[in-house]
Amino acid sequence: MNIIDRRNASLGNPPHNRPLSGITTIVNHYSAVYRKSGASIENHEKYWESHHGWDRGGYHFYIDKDAKIYQNYDLDQMTWGVANCNHYCVHICVEAGSYDDYTSEQLDTLEWINRYLMKKLNLPASAVKAHWEVNNNSRCNGFTKEQMNAWRTRLGGKGTVTVTPSRPSSSKSAGKTLHLPANADTWRIYRTNGPYTVGNEVGFLRPAKFGGLTYEIKGTPVANVYLIDTQDFGRVAIYAGAETGAKVTKGSNQPVASKNTKQLVLPKTASSWRIYKVDGPYTIGNEVGYLNPAKFGGLTYDILGSPLTDVYFIQTRDFGKAAIYAGKDTGATIK
Ligand SMILES: [Zn+2]
Repeated sequence: MNIIDRRNASLGNPPHNRPLSGITTIVNHYSAVYRKSGASIENHEKYWESHHGWDRGGYHFYIDKDAKIYQNYDLDQMTWGVANCNHYCVHICVEAGSYDDYTSEQLDTLEWINRYLMKKLNLPASAVKAHWEVNNNSRCNGFTKEQMNAWRTRLGGKGTVTVTPSRPSSSKSAGKTLHLPANADTWRIYRTNGPYTVGNEVGFLRPAKFGGLTYEIKGTPVANVYLIDTQDFGRVAIYAGAETGAKVTKGSNQPVASKNTKQLVLPKTASSWRIYKVDGPYTIGNEVGYLNPAKFGGLTYDILGSPLTDVYFIQTRDFGKAAIYAGKDTGATIK
């Protein structure tokens, strides 16, 4: 990810007067201006200066309508993001007018910068908050509590999301597979017991990113709604009527290990494991997602290939075919 440096162009130059160890909270904001308005960080700064008389801006990082990311201030500079909470906050803002206005590219960039700051500041995913969770004077960033919980789960936290027990599965669903097409950018997912309506989603899947996604159907609570197990959100419900382009086929699509296939075992002591595009690059910063072996008591995959020493191709449920680095130093084993 390329961060555009506008630290010399941003509004004001607040003092560098706080230790990074004092930063406990990564605050996620939106601009509350719809992308179609075409606003920029420069527009916002002019407004803050002329209407509020601010001596500095609100956000350390800003993601524009095209998902480009800008750095406005150093982390040791305090900015005006959340009422009187700023001394312990670092602020990220996305140019969007509502939850539905975020693009998947913006969410990718937001995920990247949250992970970057968690790592840099040594903070857990639970340190990532919506503006309204820090000071409830605003709807900013447009996410609900459930969406924020799903977001934190995605960012690798302890998972404050609670997936409620599913209704009994319909036996008709047994052995069926749901296919989400590669041309779908995002796909809403819901709690297993609903409601299954827009605005109540707990997160999004991204079929396009992975060349389509395939899930074993675990149940069908109502027509065209299926229960599936996702890696990032646990068991969820998904609407997949015929008009959506999704397909349901008979039979399990789970890869079957042949006797000659070697398997990669990721130990349950690891809570986060980078995966990469099949054609690389296989280096930190280029990961397309994370596996969570700890969540599943360890994970085992058939090895489908090995383009380089210690790099393996595996078929993942949520990310499709992916590459993974698993040198001996990582604790992974091959059997
Ligand atoms: Zn805000």
